[in-house]
Amino acid sequence: MLRIRAGSVHPVTAPPILDGAVLVDDAGKIAAVGPHPRVPTPPGARTLEFPDAALVPGLVNCHTHLELTHLAGRNREPGFATWIRRIRELKDATPPEEFRRSAEQGVRDCWTRGVTCVADTGSTGAVVEALARLGGRGIAYHEVFGPDPARCAASIAELEQALGWLSRFASSHLRLGVSPHAPYTVSEPLYRAVADFARREGLPVAVHLAESREEVQLVREGSGPFAEALRARGIAVEPRGLSPVEYLLQLGVLASGVCLCIHCVQVDAPDVRILREAGVAAAHCPRSNRAHGHGVTPVAALRAAGVRVGLGTDSVVSVEDLDLWAEAEAAGWQGEEALRMLTLEGARALCWDREIGSLEAGKQADLAVFPSTTLYRPLPPSAALLTVVAGRVVHEARAEIPGER
Ligand SMILES: [Zn+2]
Repeated sequence: MLRIRAGSVHPVTAPPILDGAVLVDDAGKIAAVGPHPRVPTPPGARTLEFPDAALVPGLVNCHTHLELTHLAGRNREPGFATWIRRIRELKDATPPEEFRRSAEQGVRDCWTRGVTCVADTGSTGAVVEALARLGGRGIAYHEVFGPDPARCAASIAELEQALGWLSRFASSHLRLGVSPHAPYTVSEPLYRAVADFARREGLPVAVHLAESREEVQLVREGSGPFAEALRARGIAVEPRGLSPVEYLLQLGVLASGVCLCIHCVQVDAPDVRILREAGVAAAHCPRSNRAHGHGVTPVAALRAAGVRVGLGTDSVVSVEDLDLWAEAEAAGWQGEEALRMLTLEGARALCWDREIGSLEAGKQADLAVFPSTTLYRPLPPSAALLTVVAGRVVHEARAEIPGER
């Protein structure tokens, strides 16, 4: 058993507790949470004490591309369409072994920052293998691409084959899903086919949706840099007169089951209504949107409408690090509200809130300890002192002992 005492304990579903403790049982679940004197110390339990730190639920990162960790800082293309193309070139030049190292580094970087659950999209399977090997928690959405309608059957066959291989890694901690990437990389028939496949297999779906103005231009008017790039490849592009949200609704993607819509910047009031009625969740990535100049997600309108919203960093090719506290600040949240968005609301967005997202007896022991007893400004340092996934310590900061080398 593991017992952690901290200067403050933040259950999220209950008010913060000064000098609190959490007891973790051998099944990796929370056995007790409360003021230090009221939480038992069973004989033989490992005890850890952090008098000047805050113990919180593990953070949930609702959008990552951890297989791209090795590409941090390596894409300076200013335009979004050329940036996307450059990513593909850099990925094509990456050997499988490097994806494996990159994914593992990405998982460890998350743990260093107190993130215990990721919703990751990737095309290589490296993150699935890394999470399984290292004992991490997450949903891994396997990406599928194919803007040429003639390639639809081949893309679906590849997807089925990849999931056939990856399904051996799935567990209660590691869920698999599918991700038809984006309107500029996926043809209409491929969207429909992936939606059918996800429904049949009961797989969650993630889509990059309504991210850039260029995407809106492509879908609505059949013009702009994405349209030109597709035509240059001999792929016909028609104006659809729809917003990206209306387009994916029409193709049956939003209603394909548990759906996570990533970005949702270019959405208006009718789009927000569609997202709410479809029961989808949104992954809000404010720093990535800012870095690419996409604009601002109308997150207040989404939440007021009842759309579940979690925060995501996006890849380290878009943002400089996987610091979720910085995302919360960029979204305008701080203190307990920021913590709630980064934990329970993230878990709700991924339909995982019955098991994680708050400190409650019976829930999974996904925890993080940050070196500050207050979560208000200044923001806590983003490096965690301790990170625990399902009761197992996966990251422990080595304290510097003065005078020792
Ligand atoms: Zn992304």
